Amino acid sequence: MLNFLIFGPPGSGKGTQSVKLAEKFNLAHLSTGDMLRAEIAAETELGRKVSSIMAKGELVPDEVVIEMIAGKIDRAENVAGFLFDGFPRTVEQTVALEKMLNDRKMKIDSMLVLDVEHDELVKRLVGRAELSGRPDDKDTVVIENRIAVYRGKTEPIISYCRERGIYQPVNGMGSIEEIFDRLSVHVSRLAN
Ligand code: ADP
Repeated sequence: MLNFLIFGPPGSGKGTQSVKLAEKFNLAHLSTGDMLRAEIAAETELGRKVSSIMAKGELVPDEVVIEMIAGKIDRAENVAGFLFDGFPRTVEQTVALEKMLNDRKMKIDSMLVLDVEHDELVKRLVGRAELSGRPDDKDTVVIENRIAVYRGKTEPIISYCRERGIYQPVNGMGSIEEIFDRLSVHVSRLAN
């Protein structure tokens, strides 16, 4: 099993690229953002609890997402590995993920980090607001907050992974296909 983190600020294209990578390399795509939005859409108790947090662009509590991910890992079948998208988002979540994988004789094999300039992030998020219908894409104050939360709470994971020798930066500027090709090079290198 090969396990990848796809990393980068909101608007860096993680979701778009994850879907393509998961298909090409037979990886289970685990997106905590998608899972949380599904809870909101289904109007579950958890969904009600997290919707106001997400609308502000803040992070939901670590234990919520850790539990969601643990459930998914054991239910995946016939996959070559996992692609974690939007998780982990804090160092605490990273430690929890490493333990989960370790308990199952697995590890994080690579962290692919999409680098995108700030103005381009905002442009992409504002641009997709209509299409995504996501309340957190509609408001530039919320967008700026999500980017700030990324810089403050999520980006420290990069040095954590760098120390483990699994950090792989990838240029996230350009067309979807160009970025996909760059990511695919790194995934293939480990997969073959
Ligand atoms: P984006 O990367 O574009 O911000 P996501 O779909 O990954 O979009 O996440 C949307 C929102 O869901 C986040 O702003 C946050 O509120 C919540 N969320 C998603 N994943 C996590 C996580 N691992 N930890 C805490 N909150 C999360």
